Amino acid sequence: MSGDPPDWFSQGMPHIWLPYTQMKTEAPPLPVIRTNGSRITLADGRELVDGIASWWTACHGYNHPHIRDAVIRQLGEMPHVMFGGLAHEPALTLARRLAALLPDGLDRVFFSDSGSVAVEVAMKMAVQFWLNQGVSHRTRFLAFKGGYHGDTFATMAVCDPEEGMHTLFADVLQKQVIADLPVDTSSREAFNALVDHHAQELAGIIVEPLVQGAGGMLFHDADVLRTLRAAADRHGLLLIFDEIFTGFGRTGAMFACEAANVVPDIVTLSKALTGGTMGLAATIAKSSVFDAFASDEPQRALMHGPTFMGNALACAAANASLDLFATEPRLEQVARISAALSRDLEPCRDLPGVRDVRVKGAIGVVELDRIEDMGELKRRFVAAGVWVRPFRNIVYLTPAFMIGEEDLKRLTDAIVSVLKDYCLGAR
Ligand SMILES: *Cc1c(COP(=O)(O)O)cnc(C)c1O
Repeated sequence: MSGDPPDWFSQGMPHIWLPYTQMKTEAPPLPVIRTNGSRITLADGRELVDGIASWWTACHGYNHPHIRDAVIRQLGEMPHVMFGGLAHEPALTLARRLAALLPDGLDRVFFSDSGSVAVEVAMKMAVQFWLNQGVSHRTRFLAFKGGYHGDTFATMAVCDPEEGMHTLFADVLQKQVIADLPVDTSSREAFNALVDHHAQELAGIIVEPLVQGAGGMLFHDADVLRTLRAAADRHGLLLIFDEIFTGFGRTGAMFACEAANVVPDIVTLSKALTGGTMGLAATIAKSSVFDAFASDEPQRALMHGPTFMGNALACAAANASLDLFATEPRLEQVARISAALSRDLEPCRDLPGVRDVRVKGAIGVVELDRIEDMGELKRRFVAAGVWVRPFRNIVYLTPAFMIGEEDLKRLTDAIVSVLKDYCLGAR
């Protein structure tokens, strides 16, 4: 261990702008020099057990040799080629495999670079789906409190307007219809009334199925999604499932739509798509959506095309990641993590200031009334040797699925002991 940060850090820091960070007052980031499995190595030699898997992307752990080898092979052949007018094996194979994994009918894949863009593309698809049929008044979306769909302007407008990270921009965002999730009789009645009232202006309904992630790690059950499907069907609306958080095993099944047995019209995927190695996202539509774009008129085509869409390196990584879901026992690992999280986070429930402890799949959440000194809490987790990033009033774990029993125990022990000190001690 050495005290001074490396030169690249001290010389680069004055030039970097960090995400969601008050750079005047918040502690600087920790310089990282290496990752492996579920460990992060800092420049001073410390090793942290990773509880977040880099915003739940690195589902196979860091530096998995199968993904690394696939990317190296692809790098030798063709790192990237434009997707306009040209096609390549990694992207077409990935599209075919995603279509095969998703429920029947979801079989047209549009690639992009990031989750926000995949959601934008889904929204654009839904609006143009109506425009192509001569319907110009169906341009809005119904979305939900607690939801998070991205940081770009169209996606900010379908995030929770109160709790979300985008309140500041309320006046410049398109006004969408924001509902409470229909979780019980009264919210179901309110939701149905709202949909019926706005149906003629709506292009679609967008939701994160089963788990609302960055909006607060909130869980709901499949009944909610059946209510949405029924409402969409009643008015012919497109139902969009944003599975950027829930996709690829995180909730215990490969996809939340599969676990819930509710088939949306459009699905968005990103985050764990490449096993946490590269930016890649996909918007997957049913044939019935795709068919509304088939026409003799060129302008009915989907008018979107990111420069780096279908990047061959990222698609090779994603294909390798899908191999690992077939060859390694990922969903069993998720079930084991789930049981361990349920057992080992339970002691938090009795701490003063803890509002809820909940677990679904490989997601463990401790919700507090509030976190007053976020900086201090973050420091204590690092001092305990773990990488855990609380936000708002939430402390959560979304570890890599291959995490060992001991590392997982270190994470849950750290959360219990840090929160015990924090909740019982002087803050
Ligand atoms: C992270 C996330 C997004 C945004 O993805 P980016 O790649 O950060 O643009 C959208 N929806 C959900 C559900 C997410 O978790």
